[in-house]
Amino acid sequence: MAELDDNGKPILLVGIVLDITEQKHNQAKIINLAYYDQLTGLINRAQMELELQKAIEQGTQNNMYSAVVFLDLDRFKLLNDSYGHHMGDKLLQLIAQRLNEVDVTEAIISRFGGDEFVMVLPMLNANQELALAKAENHAYAVIESISQVLYLESEVQDVELKYSITGSIGGIIFNSDDITPGKLIQLADLALYRAKAKGGNNVMLFNTDMQDELQLASELQKDMHDSIIKEDFIIHLQPKYNIEQQIIGAEALVRWCHPTQGILAPAAFIQIAEETNMIIAIGDMVLKQACQQLELWQQQDETRDLQIAVNLSAKQIWQSFFVDDFINLTEQYDIDRTKLIVEVTESVLIQDLNDATVKLMQLKEYGVSISLDDFGTGYSSLSYLRSLPIDEIKIDRSFVQDIVDDPQAYLVVKSIIDLARNFDLKVVSEGVELEEQFTILKQHNVAQYQGFYFSQPVTKQAFMELLYVQRKENQSSLQSPSESNVFEVF
Ligand code: C2E
Ligand code: CA
Ligand code: CA
Repeated sequence: MAELDDNGKPILLVGIVLDITEQKHNQAKIINLAYYDQLTGLINRAQMELELQKAIEQGTQNNMYSAVVFLDLDRFKLLNDSYGHHMGDKLLQLIAQRLNEVDVTEAIISRFGGDEFVMVLPMLNANQELALAKAENHAYAVIESISQVLYLESEVQDVELKYSITGSIGGIIFNSDDITPGKLIQLADLALYRAKAKGGNNVMLFNTDMQDELQLASELQKDMHDSIIKEDFIIHLQPKYNIEQQIIGAEALVRWCHPTQGILAPAAFIQIAEETNMIIAIGDMVLKQACQQLELWQQQDETRDLQIAVNLSAKQIWQSFFVDDFINLTEQYDIDRTKLIVEVTESVLIQDLNDATVKLMQLKEYGVSISLDDFGTGYSSLSYLRSLPIDEIKIDRSFVQDIVDDPQAYLVVKSIIDLARNFDLKVVSEGVELEEQFTILKQHNVAQYQGFYFSQPVTKQAFMELLYVQRKENQSSLQSPSESNVFEVF
């Protein structure tokens, strides 16, 4: 409303002047809050889901693969707990900066919450393998970049911290609109779980075809956790024979009594058990049961001489208290421990040859025999044979299987046998399936045999029955099961 002078010109303008700067500012603030993570300035979770939807559509239209990857910082909580949240915040800001600097491929970067960052790598390639490779390159560059030393200054504590952190990355590549952002995030998270399970500082990328496998693996992992608590792992025994075809003992092979899937063989679960370190708890159960079995056998004259072999995972041996734990466990049983054999593969040597040698030496001094399993498949160099305190080698079944028809395999087996003789090591042949294989091996004086030709791995009870039948055939002094308590020995 204006007040006019005599000429009709406005002399006073009355009205309300609105200052909209603040409103604009607030609006911007709201948008900012809705789309961006306040700490790092990266887009937030909600916005990332929209970006992911865009990537799905764009990829489908152009028939190109894109990827979604999760980055999770290893042991971030430790920094937070020891130096406080402000230090943790500083670190997250620096990490965000570094993620922005990685330029292997275009990346849309978000902070998902906590120490989790999610990236979309759009339109990588039309070819699945090439797309996967490109995503992997980016992921490894991220791992590399964040692991460089970080300098964290704290105004609060007046300290400067030189810090380095590692991260794990899991992700999935996709090229169809057959999938939702939510599902992709779930799969990438499962992949991350696998990467972390491998011990951190690791990258695991999958394609959408592998989603069943991913899902299955993670379900199996959860079930395994429960089954360890319930001790649902048992041993089966595969008899070992001498050259006269008499049973001299057994190899204990683990089986998982799965709550819904029945009895599972190691092929179905050992890899996951290894990746997640659950093999350590499972290995303890196996060792316990093997000792229990020995104790029972040693209470009777007829079975006193039987040996039992257990497989040890490299992960078990790498534990710092492995030897003490092993001895403590076996001490709980009243056994002649010279009847206990541990089977190890060359994989135990890759981490620290000295450490492995010292530990196996201690076991040997304790009275346990050491067997080198799957011999011929690994590095199998002479120097290992010389430095390791081993008593026997087990020729891998892949060589035994071809020994009849393949001259090369025959030669390998023959030279393994010669080698063992030179080093004064006992030779055990596994995987004997045919009489012809047994005949050839016998000709070379292999000391012990194991394989389907003789027997599959069987329950403890079935093993005792096999033993009983054999001893009876050999006119041993054993009585029939009804008169004797031999069947109680399992
Ligand atoms: P391995 O130590 O080489 O064990 C021998 C495997 O060969 C057993 O499979 C056995 O069933 C199979 N086998 C025996 N004779 C024959 C044959 O004549 N022909 C063929 N084709 N196969 C034969 P299983 O029980 O499925 O075990 C597989 C692997 O799982 C083992 O290979 C071992 O590496 C691992 N494993 C088993 N039990 C344990 C355990 O308690 N701890 C650890 N760490 N690993 C275990
Ligand atoms: Ca074995
Ligand atoms: Ca083997």
